[in-house]
Amino acid sequence: MKLVKHLANLGYGSRKDVQWMFREGRITDAAGDVLYADDPLDHDNIRVDGEPLDLPPGLLLMLHKPVGYTCSMKDPGRIVFDLLPPRFRERNPVLSTVGRLDRATSGLLLFTDDGQLLHRIIAPKSKLPKVYLATLAEPLRGDEAALFVSGTLMLEAEKTPLLPAELEELGANTARLTLHEGRYHQVRRMFAAIGHHVEALHRERIGGLSMGDLPEGQWRALDGADRDQLF
Ligand code: URA
Repeated sequence: MKLVKHLANLGYGSRKDVQWMFREGRITDAAGDVLYADDPLDHDNIRVDGEPLDLPPGLLLMLHKPVGYTCSMKDPGRIVFDLLPPRFRERNPVLSTVGRLDRATSGLLLFTDDGQLLHRIIAPKSKLPKVYLATLAEPLRGDEAALFVSGTLMLEAEKTPLLPAELEELGANTARLTLHEGRYHQVRRMFAAIGHHVEALHRERIGGLSMGDLPEGQWRALDGADRDQLF
């Protein structure tokens, strides 16, 4: 029954559903020969209705998140999971976002079902750089970079100062900000703490990993070379 469990864990249906799919001959090998529930498990050689299986557990993927989608599963509006195949919501282990981006923020969002990897990326001690492009309502004054890099800036209602963050001015109202931690709504709150309002925010990079030419709203699975870029 290893095969039944494997397909059910990938979200193809309940174990009962998958057993029926075997009986109906919908599960075959790559050559088109019908497979049975007690055949050995060879992920890459299995087809469902002629299609290769989704990626096995240990999945890491990136989404180019558009503005207007939330990372919460419970939000009644549009959620980032709407941009992935519906089966991905049914996987076990569960696929979850690696940290979050606000509804109004676009850019690089990672998903994984690997708890250890998730922890490695978001754990405070990883200090993995996250790079944002911010568009501000008012022009930069010139003192912002020094304030952010000082390591003394406090956010409202928090007890520990922010880690030093690097700000690069790109234009009158635009800047690139590199953070080494991830607090709730951190970029918007950091700018608010020094008297700026963020009008648009986009995450460009996590570690050394960026989206390349991945179009907005699209996702792709990450391979070993991509993972090497992260850390
Ligand atoms: N900081 C924010 O304010 N929002 C995000 O979505 C990410 C970082």
